[in-house]
Amino acid sequence: MPLFQHATFFTTVNHLRDLPQEVALEIAFAGRSNAGKSSALNTLARQNRLAFVSKMPGRTQHINYFSLGNERFLVDLPGYGYAKVPEEIRTHWRNLLSIYLATRVPLCGLVLIMDIRHPLTTLDQQMLGWFRPTGKPVHVLLTKADKLSRSEAAKTMKKVAADLEKLYPGATIQLFSSPKHQGIEEAENILMKWLGEEDNKKPPVKGE
Ligand code: GDP
Repeated sequence: MPLFQHATFFTTVNHLRDLPQEVALEIAFAGRSNAGKSSALNTLARQNRLAFVSKMPGRTQHINYFSLGNERFLVDLPGYGYAKVPEEIRTHWRNLLSIYLATRVPLCGLVLIMDIRHPLTTLDQQMLGWFRPTGKPVHVLLTKADKLSRSEAAKTMKKVAADLEKLYPGATIQLFSSPKHQGIEEAENILMKWLGEEDNKKPPVKGE
């Protein structure tokens, strides 16, 4: 059973000094607010309300940790791009995320959630810019793929992949839809590799 189904809420953090210490590996999820980040987390964990905690008043601007066991975690970063957020909160968000992305040692990869109809916003590009010096892997989920026809979705993904290659060479990308459960296995396979887990769905190689 994929690791993500064991995810349970662990803690909420609003300051870098409070980041959990006993962490072997963590994967961060980021995205513009309303892009479908909570839905994607819930879909990957096969739980309806896992990321609900990240939506609770007072917690939307915080970093929320979900434990996968064995000191491994999924990290839900605050959604960005709210039109009416005061400058003070924007500055806090910018400091928190830029330093977190650039310096967090156990962070082994970043999943960037983008609504397929609004990909690569300025803030998405900023996130990639902060993370790029680390050389760690990035995987983009183009969510709400169900909102476009199959051919439109494929065409958009090709275009975004080309732009992404310039912004973050080596980053990977896929289509995702929470209501259609599209793209779950593809995402899981990548994240499991980041966590050092074998792809247990691979058929055994002959002679092994
Ligand atoms: P977040 O702010 O990034 O956490 O976004 P949510 O997960 O709360 O989703 C925002 C809205 O988009 C909600 O109304 C979701 O039901 C909807 N949504 C999220 N993912 C999908 C998707 O893959 N397809 C469709 N059609 N709607 C989605």
